[in-house]
Amino acid sequence: MTTDPRQSAYDAVFAYIRSQPDVVPATVVERNAMIWRAVHAALDAVSPAPAAGVQPPTTIQAHPTTTQWDVEVYDPRHSAWVATTRFHDPEVAADAVKDYEKTTPTWPDGSPVQHRTVRATTTYTVEPSEPLKHLPKGTNAEDCPACKGTNPDYPFLCPGPPAAPAATEATS
Ligand SMILES: [Zn+2]
Repeated sequence: MTTDPRQSAYDAVFAYIRSQPDVVPATVVERNAMIWRAVHAALDAVSPAPAAGVQPPTTIQAHPTTTQWDVEVYDPRHSAWVATTRFHDPEVAADAVKDYEKTTPTWPDGSPVQHRTVRATTTYTVEPSEPLKHLPKGTNAEDCPACKGTNPDYPFLCPGPPAAPAATEATS
């Protein structure tokens, strides 16, 4: 039995669909937002190969994970949530939301101001270091970063990069 490599993406989208309330989005903006969230869930689940030159992150934590809470206001003119203040304590963030709702419950046109609190979790991982590469074969080993400390045999020449696996015969 083979595993479909897209299964994790299907699972993520199913999970997102199941997490949605049983109401139809009232506006095109909300509907599009739902579609995009499903797309992001799928893309995140299959974790595409990193861009060329970008190495995948290590799992080595450089610092403990930090958590903060952003109080956001919905900007109806731009159909976007805008972060107003970032808090280090969820209770303080909740108090701030209550204050905002009390002091500015509506926009000038009378429509209600929507607030939400967003949890931001930041992880700090150590970037992988570049593996040391040998200089061309025969270079003075003292100049080669990969030979440093390996005591190559006299006459102290770099053995060069590892030989590439033998190319298979071209059939064309
Ligand atoms: Zn070397």
